[in-house]
Amino acid sequence: MQDLVIRNATLWDGTGSPARPGHTIHLHGDTVAWIGPESSPHALSLPRGAGTMTIDAAGRWLLPGLIDLHVHLTFDPRDPDFLRVATLTPVAEAAFRGAHHARLMLEAGFTGVRDMGAFGDANVAVRRAIDAGWITGPRLATAGVFVTVRGGHADLALKQDVAVAQGIAVTGIDAVRDAVRSRAQRGADWIKVLATAGVMTGGGAPVGACLWEDDELAAAVSTATRLGRKVAAHAHGADGIRAAAEAGVATIEHVTMADTASVEAMSRNRTVLVPTFSAAQSVVREARAGRLSPSSTAFALEMGPRHVASFRMAREAGVRVGFGTDIGVPGTVFGSNGGEFALMVDAGMTPEEALLSATRYAAEILGWSRAGTLAHGQWADAILVDGDPLADVSCLADLSRIHLVILGGRPVADRRPESTAA
Ligand SMILES: [Zn+2]
Repeated sequence: MQDLVIRNATLWDGTGSPARPGHTIHLHGDTVAWIGPESSPHALSLPRGAGTMTIDAAGRWLLPGLIDLHVHLTFDPRDPDFLRVATLTPVAEAAFRGAHHARLMLEAGFTGVRDMGAFGDANVAVRRAIDAGWITGPRLATAGVFVTVRGGHADLALKQDVAVAQGIAVTGIDAVRDAVRSRAQRGADWIKVLATAGVMTGGGAPVGACLWEDDELAAAVSTATRLGRKVAAHAHGADGIRAAAEAGVATIEHVTMADTASVEAMSRNRTVLVPTFSAAQSVVREARAGRLSPSSTAFALEMGPRHVASFRMAREAGVRVGFGTDIGVPGTVFGSNGGEFALMVDAGMTPEEALLSATRYAAEILGWSRAGTLAHGQWADAILVDGDPLADVSCLADLSRIHLVILGGRPVADRRPESTAA
């Protein structure tokens, strides 16, 4: 098993401790074997020589590998035609695309990713390929195929017959339970429900309306819980946010048009908010450029300005935030995930809060107890950054400053100038 020793790093370990200069980390295989100050006697006894790679961080910042809780890695963000992506792309092609996108996000410092929905379970295929070692990608949790109700988001976008044929759209408690069981059977780690309409829905329902009955949402959560899965709900409007929170979903995505009652329901139910500012920004940009359908354009322009206000309201109500971008939707770019940090800070978070949402808190949401922090026994997933992200989070969006990405103790992206000889 390989040893990797990184010396002279400024350590921000995600545990809540302040950043500390002059630290050394010893990674043995996929585990953090030791971490501590350079001056500690143990630092002198670390392995060196053959079988050990030693890196001088020269004071650069060492962080836990980052986690994005909301992407669609099998989508083509250059193609705004949801219908074509869903119906005319072979699932195998979507899986190849997902493998390519997974690698791009890993190289950007994201060693963990939650995929929030695909067609034909292409995302599950990508996760299995990574787990089997056929391809290199971040640790992946995936939701399989979305679950929506008849006439809901995705169903409207796909035309009802297509969505029903693909098993996406359902009606009634029994059908919801059956959909959740079949997602789990086919390998989904999460259940993704579309509680309200969406920007890319393409018309038919108001973007904020809740399209599920309360008992249908409750059925999704109870069946998922029995199967050891959590539920994530897409919700823009207040009714859908409140209904999903009361039903007990683990995370609500977007939360663009909240009101007091809906954020209080999230707070009371300890529902995590995943804001996805990156996608909202890019969808508004696409809308202004005239690249979306007229109804999607209207939706995007309606929800855009209300997003930050909803986010602030939720934070004031004590709602916890998980980092997520929704990269994969039109106009987004895989590997630009780190751009979300600056958008979160613009919306009122401190850089440290934003970083925690992408490390320790994200790992807690995923139930990955060995991810999100750097400490003895944790997974050896880390990044070395040129710059102080607590002073300027935008350094995490600049790939030239993501100096080194380590996944499971192995360098998977190495931009150190000295590494070109190696
Ligand atoms: Zn999404």
